Amino acid sequence: MNHYPLFADLNGRPVLLAGAGKVAERKAESLLQAGAAVRVVARELNPVFQKWADEGKIEWLGSEFHDDDLDDVFFAVAATDDYAFNRRIFQAAEQRAKLCNTVDTADLCSFTVPAVIDRSPLKIAVSSGATAPVLARKWRQIIETLIPLHTGQMAALAGKWRNAVKAKIKGTANRRRFWENLFDSRFNALAAQGNLDAAEAELAAQLDGFGAAKGEVVLVGAGPGDAGLLTLHALQAIQAADVVFHDALVSDDVLSMMRKDADKISVGKRAGSHHVQQEETNRLLVEYARQGLRVVRLKGGDPFVFGRGGEEAQVLRQANIPYRIIPGITAALGATAYAGIPLTHRDCAQSALFVTGHSKHDGHQPDWRTLALSNQTLVVYMGTLKAAETAEKLMAHGRSGDTPVAIVSNGTLPHQSVVTGRLKNLSELAENAPRPAMIVIGEVVSLRDELKWFQENPAQSRLHTLHEQAA
Ligand code: SAH
Repeated sequence: MNHYPLFADLNGRPVLLAGAGKVAERKAESLLQAGAAVRVVARELNPVFQKWADEGKIEWLGSEFHDDDLDDVFFAVAATDDYAFNRRIFQAAEQRAKLCNTVDTADLCSFTVPAVIDRSPLKIAVSSGATAPVLARKWRQIIETLIPLHTGQMAALAGKWRNAVKAKIKGTANRRRFWENLFDSRFNALAAQGNLDAAEAELAAQLDGFGAAKGEVVLVGAGPGDAGLLTLHALQAIQAADVVFHDALVSDDVLSMMRKDADKISVGKRAGSHHVQQEETNRLLVEYARQGLRVVRLKGGDPFVFGRGGEEAQVLRQANIPYRIIPGITAALGATAYAGIPLTHRDCAQSALFVTGHSKHDGHQPDWRTLALSNQTLVVYMGTLKAAETAEKLMAHGRSGDTPVAIVSNGTLPHQSVVTGRLKNLSELAENAPRPAMIVIGEVVSLRDELKWFQENPAQSRLHTLHEQAA
């Protein structure tokens, strides 16, 4: 099967449809939408067809099919529940060199109708060549989620400017480069925000300054590790990037979403092991964007949660580089969900606090009295090194040493591991926990026994049991 794909302009063109039941109705709907003049052969019309006939939207030829009904139509669709009748139409169509589509009957089709993703004027058709329509529909659904709703509006704007672009930029290759850059640039983001005027102004500006394109930086939250937790915006930004600066925390699965020809630069920094310094990262972001590149700064979790996204955005603002922020699922949300620990629960935690065990200004002391309050969940980022001190301070300020605690390591990843115990044993639990690790303190941790759902690495589960015994 090697079908030739095409998009037909049916506006005002007659088409023959056999059948006027539920199945035929779906066919008629899409034909009418395309503006076809639908002629129906059917013993009787269902109420919808009847209404269409009354309104003059379709023409009913009666119950008899005559071969010469095919003479002045462009193609036929056989959608009755009578195989023999459908076959008669197909055979007559073959003899008269007309295309015919028969519903759900591959051997009576000279053309098939694809599953369609409609972002008019952009349309994407998926076909399995009459072998597995359900599979084609499944792919349609997947693609549907990947193609933003505003794509149609972008296509319409592009259509409006097509001639102007052709007049200004010589050479097909140059024009292709212009359009590629445009669709991956701020133009896309502006259209996505529904700001079509600004998008059009951006198009005009890029056309004006073609060759001197200005880059941008997108601060993207990569989520805690499982690539399925990326947002659609994040995925699109990663795939559009010319260069990606990423943390050590960003998982390989997420990085594998990059274009193969894009540059990948690790600027990871983990407590203890210094890689590229923050000032150097800031400098590189500005430098690459100034070269007109689409720069993605990819950060574990969310860029604005203990991620220095705020500092980087400030630098970009000062350097006058356009930027966007795409939030991600922060580790506190991802790791607890995959560990089966609800952050709040009406019975035992009315609030959740996200704190860091590590701060830029040494000597800065958190308000331990507030942190030690009961009926709340405390989530500590970067907390394993200072776990002993944290536990001690919380207990000194009134939190019970028996408060349940969990340490979630490599949350949401296949090698996630979780250990649970009591606040008084937190430092021992933390000592052996693989990193990155997140400390969760509060009664909600005890719900894990009931709510645990994610399959964790068996080797780590053994450790889990040892700790349980120790606790
Ligand atoms: N911006 C990130 C946090 C960066 S700070 C976010 O929003 O998630 C780094 C800390 O995040 C680590 O020390 C650890 O406490 C936590 N962390 C990040 N990813 C994690 C993961 N997959 N599992 C557990 N903790 C994680």
